[in-house]
Amino acid sequence: MRKKSKVAELISKDILKSWQQTLDLVCQLIQVPVGMICAVDENTYLPIALNKMKDNPYSLKSVFSLDEEFLCEWVISNDKELVVSDFTHEEPWSRSPLVDQGMVSFLGRPLHWPDGRVFGVFYVMDRTPRKFEDELLAIFNQLHSLTEFQLNLAFERDQLQLAKTVIEQGEQKYTELSSKDGLTGAYNRRTLQELAVSELSRTTRKTGCFALALLDVDHFKQINDEYGHLAGDAVLKHLVFALDNMLRQSDFISRFGGEEFCLLMPEMEPSMAFHIIDRIRKELAKIPVMYNGETIYCTVSLGCALFESGMITTVEELLNMADTALNDAKRSGRNRVCMASEGMLDEVHMA
Ligand code: GH3
Ligand code: MG
Ligand code: MG
Repeated sequence: MRKKSKVAELISKDILKSWQQTLDLVCQLIQVPVGMICAVDENTYLPIALNKMKDNPYSLKSVFSLDEEFLCEWVISNDKELVVSDFTHEEPWSRSPLVDQGMVSFLGRPLHWPDGRVFGVFYVMDRTPRKFEDELLAIFNQLHSLTEFQLNLAFERDQLQLAKTVIEQGEQKYTELSSKDGLTGAYNRRTLQELAVSELSRTTRKTGCFALALLDVDHFKQINDEYGHLAGDAVLKHLVFALDNMLRQSDFISRFGGEEFCLLMPEMEPSMAFHIIDRIRKELAKIPVMYNGETIYCTVSLGCALFESGMITTVEELLNMADTALNDAKRSGRNRVCMASEGMLDEVHMA
């Protein structure tokens, strides 16, 4: 079976224009009314370039099937040049539908992709019997070679583009892998640090507020002990999935390690922070995780620090304050949100 030609993808308008000019030239030099380049697209014979002389009866809109157009089919199947001086008198060519269209002589050569596959046929036809003497054949062959050369350039350009795409996809995958946690798909700690640093300087410039919340699963060790480590993994994955659905597009989730996550929430209205984060906590507590026929519920504790340009100047200070608030949430009974207060900054500095 012939491979599908990638004509439409590969052959640019510029190449088609140049091929049409080549066909005009070959028709003028050999003195024939019809010059055509056809490609094989699966089982279809697809005329893609045509000379523009007035007495050419064909148009590019006509698409023949290979069975009907057996002169070109012969060139493609045999992968050989075909010269027919008068096919009204030569079998089997007298049966060609071209006879009914008034065509009598044919000169065609296969065009190849660089890997040797047949791309199509470069050919001319005349209404009168023609011998196609050696000097005309030489002209024809040179213009055929020029066409094949351009085809090869198009192929190489396509291969380069393909290689570039593969490299780009690889780079994208690498960036993703190196910025994300393998288990949950949340950002890793290093990426969070970078995002937080840039958010901090952005918020400082435009005097806004962003929230940084540390989230820790309550009694996670018990979940592992009761249902197994894989169930614990499923809970973590599920948690990130659920958070992803609850947070805004502009928020970031990162895994800080173990069963601890950090939420970075830009453009936070300070008076709303507690309610927004507490709603997330309540929602999470309601969602069951189904694992191996078991239904697992878990709660989380959160410590949240707000960055408004003022006393806090670094991401580390902000993280430490959120951590202190998280410890408060744990100490005071878990399944709750504690907001960091400015007093905690002193604790952080003293620690
Ligand atoms: P607390 O409410 O105080 O946070 O209690 P806890 O049990 O959640 O906290 P603890 O620090 O005692 O236990 C955390 C457990 O999380 C211990 C560790 O084995 C488990 N863990 C850490 N990383 C993973 C992981 O990737 N998968 C699973 N399944 N367990 C993990
Ligand atoms: Mg925990
Ligand atoms: Mg923990």
